Amino acid sequence: MIIVLKPHTTKQDLARVENMVKTRGLDTHIIEGSDMTVIGCIGDTTRIDMKLFEVDSAVSKVMHVQEPYKLASRAFHPEDSMVDVSGVKVGRGHLALIAGPCSVESTEQVIEIAKAAKASGANLLRGGAFKPRTSPYSFQGMGLAGLDILCEAREATGLPIVTELMSTEYLDIFNEKVDLIQIGARNMQNFDLLKQLGQVDRPILLKRGLNATYEEWFMSAEYIMAAGNENVILCERGVRTFESYTRNTLDLQSIPVVRKLTHLPIIVDPSHAGGKWWLVEPMAKAAIAAGADGLMVEVHNNPECALCDGAQSLKPEKYDALIKQISGIAQVIGKTL
Ligand code: PEP
Ligand code: MN
Repeated sequence: MIIVLKPHTTKQDLARVENMVKTRGLDTHIIEGSDMTVIGCIGDTTRIDMKLFEVDSAVSKVMHVQEPYKLASRAFHPEDSMVDVSGVKVGRGHLALIAGPCSVESTEQVIEIAKAAKASGANLLRGGAFKPRTSPYSFQGMGLAGLDILCEAREATGLPIVTELMSTEYLDIFNEKVDLIQIGARNMQNFDLLKQLGQVDRPILLKRGLNATYEEWFMSAEYIMAAGNENVILCERGVRTFESYTRNTLDLQSIPVVRKLTHLPIIVDPSHAGGKWWLVEPMAKAAIAAGADGLMVEVHNNPECALCDGAQSLKPEKYDALIKQISGIAQVIGKTL
């Protein structure tokens, strides 16, 4: 952190601001110019409230030279991270191909979709047991019964399972049964939940909040990592913009930004981004071409009758065709399916 003092600051003001820095456990390096004085702060500034310095009467401006997220930052960890999801590698050239219905509806439904998705090349099975719905009157998911169905589908297919945790109440049971714990867009800043995830042994899939900035998203990853769980995969799922034709706007730029600023794997969910099944294929292809480490795609055997998100779900045949195209793109850019 660098503190630029106002022109012609007195020696007393300089000493006072320097003291404010030192009482926070940092060292200082003073650069005195002809008109301006600059205080360089040396040490861990992530816990410092910059705003307190900004409003000081002697301070002109304050600049951070270091990102506030340390564990997630590429600056301190130059190599890409790879996350192991019960044997499925994600990152460093390995793609996560997560497929399955928006919500678990029955054993037959999930197993049929899981078998078809696996035959197409999916390596992880998704399905919501606890659903965060905008309306309290919409289907809320099957709850723990849905989780048991996912476990049955894992038995039947060998695919590790990914499902959303909404409350700390089910943390232990998720830790026991779920291979990759998903934190949905709506809970990206549920800080109590994030802190608890530091205690679990399972990797975490952290979706970007509906209108989260990159820094807010990375700070949420930092919460989980600082609490003790460094196995975090980020998921871009579109953000809210002025456009209402699509459900959200897929921020493809987030892929190179995440890769530049962090070392964490980044996957893309084109289903929740566009909200329409026919947008999934072009956006999925673009995401892989832009460097994503995988895709999360909603697949349903009967989308017309789906209890949730049928409009954005691919039928298994369409998913199969998509993976064939992805495989060509992956080869060109040196990734393995
Ligand atoms: C989901 O993946 O089931 C979901 C609800 O997505 P999001 O949290 O991105 O809206
Ligand atoms: Mn959905």
